[in-house]
Amino acid sequence: MVICGIQKLTLLDYPGKVACTIFTGGCNFRCPFCHNADLVTGKPEVTVTGEEIFRFLRKRQGLLDGVCISGGEPLLQPDLEDFIRGVRSLGYSVKLDTNGSMPDKLESLAEKGLLDYVAMDLKNAPEHYGRTIGAETYDVGNVDRSIRFLMGGEIPYEFRTTVVREFHQKADFEEMGRWIEGADQYFLQQFMDSGHVIAPGLHAYDEKILFQALEIVKKYVKTAQIRGL
Ligand code: SF4
Repeated sequence: MVICGIQKLTLLDYPGKVACTIFTGGCNFRCPFCHNADLVTGKPEVTVTGEEIFRFLRKRQGLLDGVCISGGEPLLQPDLEDFIRGVRSLGYSVKLDTNGSMPDKLESLAEKGLLDYVAMDLKNAPEHYGRTIGAETYDVGNVDRSIRFLMGGEIPYEFRTTVVREFHQKADFEEMGRWIEGADQYFLQQFMDSGHVIAPGLHAYDEKILFQALEIVKKYVKTAQIRGL
């Protein structure tokens, strides 16, 4: 596992759990608004060993309930399954953050009972997906497979979209809503420029527009909320 960092306590990342978040290195997408370019390009300034992570997790047993595995894209890590088994053996629940591009790996982990919660990014409407992930010709077939798998399965899940003025228009929210129609939970996340984004110069919408977008997607899913305001 390439682990680039750990947030030792989060009350926000894992719904209903007191958790920590582990950040894996490397991603197969290049979303221009990605707030951690170093993590994505696999050239992090700091890496953490698995041994250090497990030492930390053993110390926090009984204090933390869950571990969020985030990235980058965690499903790229070849030894993710073993890592999750190790985390679970210490009694932790596991939440996976994924961009949904690797449905085979997602399904495999889920079917082995290794995931307790999945948060999947929905980057944009299908026709604008490639531009939004920094790969113009991207085929959304795998993303669609991950959506169908989560919506048809038993694992609690959410979809989430980071809303960026330069990428998302009104029609895109209609399209995204239709794409995941009937989904349990959908979050629109306010874009924030961390100062380390892949492509500087992007903007958030003001709150009023974000709430208009929320009204659009609410028509299609069971619950929709805004994060990051
Ligand atoms: S936002 Fe997520 S999917 Fe996009 S490049 Fe960054 S880590 Fe990868």
